[in-house]
Order: sequence, then C-alpha cells, then structure tokens
Amino acid sequence: MMKRKLTPLVTLVSALCTATPALAADMDHLRVVDKPLNLTVHLHDKKFVYSDDWPVEKEAARLTGISLTNVTIGNTPDSNEAFNLMIAGGDLPDIVGGKEAKDNINRYGPEGAFIPLQDLIKEHAPNIYAQMQARPEVFASAYAGDGNLYYVPYLTDGKYGRAYWMRTDWLEKLDLKVPDNIDELYEVLTAFRNNDPNGNGKKDEVPAFFRNWEEVFRIVTFFDGRTSGSDTYHDFHVDEGKIKHGYIGEGYKTGLTHMAKWYKEGLIDPEVFTRGSRAREFLLSNDLGGFTHDWFASTAGYNDSLKDKVEGFKFEAIIPPESISGRRLEEHRRIPIKPEGWGISYSNKNPIESIKYMDFWWTEEGRRLANFGIEGEQYDLIDGKAIFKPEVLNSDRPINSQLNDIGAQVRRGFWQDYNYEIQWTNQYALEGIELYDQGDYLLKDTFLGVAFNEAEQKVYDKYWPGARTFMLEKQQAWVLGSSDVEADWDNYLKTLDRMGLGKVMEAMQSAYDRQYGG
Ligand code: CA
Repeated sequence: MMKRKLTPLVTLVSALCTATPALAADMDHLRVVDKPLNLTVHLHDKKFVYSDDWPVEKEAARLTGISLTNVTIGNTPDSNEAFNLMIAGGDLPDIVGGKEAKDNINRYGPEGAFIPLQDLIKEHAPNIYAQMQARPEVFASAYAGDGNLYYVPYLTDGKYGRAYWMRTDWLEKLDLKVPDNIDELYEVLTAFRNNDPNGNGKKDEVPAFFRNWEEVFRIVTFFDGRTSGSDTYHDFHVDEGKIKHGYIGEGYKTGLTHMAKWYKEGLIDPEVFTRGSRAREFLLSNDLGGFTHDWFASTAGYNDSLKDKVEGFKFEAIIPPESISGRRLEEHRRIPIKPEGWGISYSNKNPIESIKYMDFWWTEEGRRLANFGIEGEQYDLIDGKAIFKPEVLNSDRPINSQLNDIGAQVRRGFWQDYNYEIQWTNQYALEGIELYDQGDYLLKDTFLGVAFNEAEQKVYDKYWPGARTFMLEKQQAWVLGSSDVEADWDNYLKTLDRMGLGKVMEAMQSAYDRQYGG
C-alpha cells in the first residue's frame, strides 16, 4: 500500500502553528513544500483545458502546497496543434500534459525540451515508483526511443471494455438459444432477419449493427482472423513476441469472404459505414437492432432506459461464440496505460518538487481526489471506500461530465480506480462482466506500442499511412461487394509489399525487441 513520507519536524511544527489541528493532521504527510509554490501547466485534452478553478486542483494545492496556474494554449480544439504552438513559443510551462502527451513529449524529450524522469521518480516519487516496480512491462511502453521516461502516464483500471450483446428476448420469441459458435450465430442473425422478432409484420430488423463501423470487422475473429492488438483500431498485434498485422492474415481473408456474404444477405446493417455514432441509440430504441459489439456499462444501460419504451426489451451480453477452430476471443480489452499523462519541461526550476507533486496523485488520498472528487461533495468515505453521493449517481448529467467539471477523471498522470465506474455500472453490465470472468476469452498479449529510433520512425512515417489507407479502402470495398476478396487477395498482398508494409513491420519488430527485451 502507500508509503508515508517522512515529514521534517520543522514542517510539522509550522503546520501545527498555522492550521487548525484537524487540518494539520491530514496535511502533513502530503505536503511537498513549506512555502506555497506555484507552477505553470499546459494541459489540453480535446474537450477541455486545465483550470485553476477546479475544486480538485484547489484541494491538491491545499494538501501539497503546490498550485498550478493554467497557461494552456486553448484557442484550438486540436490538442496536437495546441502542443505544437506551445513548443514553437520556446519558453515552456513547468508541466506539460494532455491528449497524446506521450507521442509529443517523447518526440521533444530527446531533443532536450523535457527532462528524464526515471531517476527522479526512483528518488522522490515512491508511489509512482511502486507501480513501476509492480508492472514493468506496462511502464516499458512509456519510454522514449532514447531509453528515457519523459512522462508520468495515466494508468487505467479494470480489464473489460466491450462485449457481444444480443436481444435475448428476440431469441426467446423465435425459440432460439444463445448462439454458441459461428454457425449458430449465422443462423440466429438470419432468423432475426427473416422471422420478424419485433412483431410489426415488416422485414425491418437490422440483425448486426455497430456504433463504430470499425467494430464490424470483429466478425473476422470468428474466422480466426484479427483486427487489432490494442484499443486502437487497425493496430498491429503481438503473437509470441512477433509483430503481426491482422489485415494480411488468412483468417481475415476468410472472415471477409463471409462478411461480404452476410452483408449481401442483409445480416449486417446496410448503413454500417455511414450510420454513425447514434446507430446504437437509434436501432435499439426503435426496436430494430439485434446484435452488436460495444461497451459493457453504456450498452447495458439501455435495459434501464428502454424498459418502458420497447416491450420486453432485453439486451444481454453473450460470451464470444466459438470460431471455426473453436477459439473464443474477446479481442477488445482496456489498455492498462494510456498515451495521456504529463511531463516536466527543461525550463522548470523545481523538478524535485514537481515530481513530488506528481507523486501526490498516486498516494491514497491523491488517487481518491483524482478519481472521485471532493469528500463530502461528490462522495462520502464509508468504511474507507469512496462512495458517490446519491445526487451524483442520480443526476441527469453523466457522471464523467460531473467529475470533469470539477477536475476529477482529468487525464493528468494518475492511476484510475475502477471502483469509480463500478458504482454506476448497472446489473446487466455486472452480470455480463461476471459471465466473461468465468471464461478465458480476453485477449492476453495487449500491444502497448513501440518507441521508434530515428531511422525506424522515418520508415514508419514514409510507408505506414499509405499502406493503412489502402487496407481500409479494400476492406470496405470487400464488405460492400464492390470488389471480391478472393479474386483480389494475391494482388492485395503484393501491393502492400510494394507500399512498404514489410518494411514498417521490420521497423516495428526491431523497436519492439529493443523496448521489451525480445
Ligand atoms: Ca419486423
């Protein structure tokens, strides 16, 4: 658990003299500086920029003695553009973070814009260091190409993300059982298509639909194909230490052959590539959608929100149907480490105090503040656990938005606590998670990315965007039937080779071996 820092006697005494005893008791071991210290911060995370007014920021300042003044360049919605504008300005803020901080900081760290943190953490940040020791393979992915760690990452918590969902009340109506394998899935979707499970006399059902069109390609996993090794779509994956890409695999080809057939037969949403992010909301609330692959908590929520609107509505998680070889794979899982977080710039005159401040967010108290907000406001401490107040849980405003409003669940370098989410995860989601917990379905080798050296980066930048675009064009054409996968396949592989995909994979492999000791 957390280690308490030794507090110099003089700090304790001065704290006792200036604060009430109750405050002093909870302040002493978290205090970083005797005299209040102010640092500047640039943190741009798409939806918002850092705010000095966040109650969470103010509480952190009260506890540590360090406050952050927001100097984020915020006149653009693009976090990368904001970062580039800040870098171009030259005189960097003390602390820099935000969306995709990893790529940006790891690019400019080796050039001297940010300072290496690994030794500072070892000496001054016991709580971050404890996690580095506990999960070396996770932190390995955060290092830059020059072997230094330039940012304190945002670690997520919980492993389950998406699952397969089915209208089980439709199954009952048509006297079908939950499909156990790919053949039964095909039969169920065909029955959804033909046998009017919504009972309106029209052939209007959309058997398989996907809110993110990329999710439709998960179907290839039922044919032993792969689509990604991480929570980024179209990503590479690792197979026993070897970098691979699903879109040149045999199972992918087989899967796409079937997907083209399914699409033609009306089993897949005819508007799957164009319907957009409201597909789930629209198709479920109109009693039209039958099967999807989507997040546990938000998808399960429709059982509550539609129970009075759609008669008999039951949308339940089912375990991944067995593939043609008998494999059950849930390819999506939460990635344990995100590219968000924050680093310390070269112009910061207080690097030790800064890393201690960053470590505060990894203490028991700091982690609670970052995850749940303020005690007595958003949550109460009950038996040592932060429990959200009913007015937070029952508010019309989504919980994440309420928390973001006050500076909690902001993607600074912190460690998420899954308990924050489980409290508003409904019974259907919890049952689904339990179902998935009983089997060994979840992807094991998450690909956490690589840090390229300069030569590898050049290869990647030169060839990958073109190869990726070509693969995405072909996969849509194959599903839609405007091109035939069997007829195209050999040429497709040859073209990708000519476009440099092989070179990209070699670069990834050498970077991977260096980073993960392959
Ligand atoms: Ca119907």
